Amino acid sequence: MPAVRTAFQQVEEPVAKKLETYRDKRDFRKTPEPRGDGKQRSGERPVFVVQEHEASSHHFDLRLEVEGVLASWAVPKGPSTDPRDKRLAVRTEDHPLDYADFEGTIPEGEYGAGTVIVWDAGSYGNLREDEDGEAVPMQRCLAEGQVEVWLEGKKLTGGYALHRMEGGDDREKWLLVKMRDEEADARRRPTSTEPQSVTSGRTLEEVAEEESGEGDSA
Ligand code: MN
Repeated sequence: MPAVRTAFQQVEEPVAKKLETYRDKRDFRKTPEPRGDGKQRSGERPVFVVQEHEASSHHFDLRLEVEGVLASWAVPKGPSTDPRDKRLAVRTEDHPLDYADFEGTIPEGEYGAGTVIVWDAGSYGNLREDEDGEAVPMQRCLAEGQVEVWLEGKKLTGGYALHRMEGGDDREKWLLVKMRDEEADARRRPTSTEPQSVTSGRTLEEVAEEESGEGDSA
């Protein structure tokens, strides 16, 4: 239905508008996180990143590049390589593209206070097609609550599906599930066995210690 597709194109917002919530939550004089004035397009293929975040509660953040920003979900247990696992993924505000490289400590008292590492990163492909075999634009997949992507990371590879659940409150609840393909592996537990950052080789603890200067537990 061409009319539907036009409607989705019309709701496309400029990047600055999409980043309003992200910027409103943060004081960039205090947090080392990027404000997001930089790049609008990362490269030939869209990027994905999974950041491990030791905040008030430990979680992983899955982010997919979509139309100039990183669509984001907080995944308390992190992604699984076992298709039988359904992992809760709470949609969070769009993040700037340069956030994909962010590793460091958000100071006490700031939004999301705690240490962040780049747990996995790479590119992804959109797997969703309409009945004519045409790719369904990612923006529309997000609006429909049905995302299916092929990840090419260092730790995570293969198909992953994200489906929005019905109902709920103001925060969108989705489920993240490994699709059944040759990359599925019920024996792996990368969130616990592969704790190092794929960009710096450091663990959360090492980043936290380096940034505190004296390695204390404050
Ligand atoms: Mn987070």
